Amino acid sequence: MEPPTLHPEIDHRLCIGCTNCVAACPEQGSHQVLGMIRKKANLVGPTNCIGHGACKAVCPVNAITLVFGTAKRGVDIPLVNPDFQTNVPGIFIAGELGGMGLIRNAVEQGRQAMESITKLVKQKHENKFDVVIIGAGPAGFAATLGATESKLQHATVEQEELGGTVAHFPRRKLVMTQPANLPIVGEMQFTEVQKETLIDYWREVEQKTGIKINYSERVDAIEAGPNGGFMVTTSKNTYDTRTVLLSIGRRGTPRKLGVPGEEMDKVVYRVIDPAQYRNQHVLVVGGGDSALEAATSIAAEVGTTVTLSYRSAAFSRAKPKNRQLVEDMQAKGRLRVLFSSNVKSILDGAVEIAVGDKSGSIANDAVIVSAGGILPSAFLRTIGINVETKWGSE
Ligand SMILES: Cc1cc2nc3c(=O)[nH]c(=O)nc-3n(C[C@H](O)[C@H](O)[C@H](O)COP(=O)(O)OP(=O)(O)OC[C@H]3O[C@@H](n4cnc5c(N)ncnc54)[C@H](O)[C@@H]3O)c2cc1C
Ligand code: SF4
Repeated sequence: MEPPTLHPEIDHRLCIGCTNCVAACPEQGSHQVLGMIRKKANLVGPTNCIGHGACKAVCPVNAITLVFGTAKRGVDIPLVNPDFQTNVPGIFIAGELGGMGLIRNAVEQGRQAMESITKLVKQKHENKFDVVIIGAGPAGFAATLGATESKLQHATVEQEELGGTVAHFPRRKLVMTQPANLPIVGEMQFTEVQKETLIDYWREVEQKTGIKINYSERVDAIEAGPNGGFMVTTSKNTYDTRTVLLSIGRRGTPRKLGVPGEEMDKVVYRVIDPAQYRNQHVLVVGGGDSALEAATSIAAEVGTTVTLSYRSAAFSRAKPKNRQLVEDMQAKGRLRVLFSSNVKSILDGAVEIAVGDKSGSIANDAVIVSAGGILPSAFLRTIGINVETKWGSE
């Protein structure tokens, strides 16, 4: 598996095996990211690396370089000017989408990008909005506070909920961060904080400051507007705006099923805590690793009845370990697999599924759709933003 973001590349000719980097990694408490193999440091848990960079800072011999992508898997990074503006004048990028991960960086960039936007929109324009902020993760949240403080005509559109990727961290994850400056409220002083406490803090700030975020609204297109600026088309609205701030992170938009009933609250696109499904009838849709991991982790919870629906005839894309787990759960009668099946509609208390040429209904309390995602780089290219693919370079 390949690391998703900025990660260390270790030069084994220089490494003296001091283990400083292993000890310094803030994720080490919950996952093994770095480990020693034959007295040299190695990235042993690449997918758990989130780019803290603490390893590089403690290496006494400069053996560590922080890079994007690997020789096998390129990572697309948009080209952004120091004022956070892209090659498309009026479109700005802040946060992890620009390549720099971590909460503090996202907050700082969101605030600074809004300062640049504020200067630009002071010039007269004919658009209804000064700025549309897309995404309410840490970057979009800080930017929305900045736009409110500067009294800009703005709208913030978020396809899911407040907090972005942080809202999807596992339950009670210990978040390691650094103080960062939020407009209106001042310094966010956390260094080590539980995920839930951080999200509660942001919700409190949202309420106290009266900022407005349009939740459950997804941006589908950004086009040149008739009054200059841009027309932003969302799942609910269109916005005529002078500028756009993309603070959409790097996780992309989960692929939807496009069936009736999908808008119900019981349908989600990620599992945060398998225990919340205890004693429920759960349908998981998909055939990749995340679908198999979701189905087996929920099936391990007390009282669950889990069905895994996949449109193909075999799990050819998933890891052998996950396929084995599915077989084990099936053998124990904890999980039912429906190959060559398609969800037709989602109802209160049930789901209609077609298996081959037969259709039927199964009892249902919750649906988890793990059908992959639409990555932001394709979206960026359609808007005309220049993107550079990094293959293991700084
Ligand atoms: C498992 C894990 C653990 C981590 N732990 C830490 C940690 O301990 N400390 C730390 O500092 N960082 C950590 N990070 C990294 C941190 O979460 C991210 O760097 C940070 O959340 C990036 O913020 P952002 O605002 O740029 O993007 P995100 O937080 O990803 O937010 C982007 C938002 O945009 C929305 N969006 C996307 N597309 C659209 C669209 N088309 N329309 C509307 N809305 C859209 C998304 O729904 C999302 O809410 C971790 C990451 C992971 C995956
Ligand atoms: S800190 Fe540097 S020298 Fe020490 S183990 Fe890590 S890579 Fe090797």
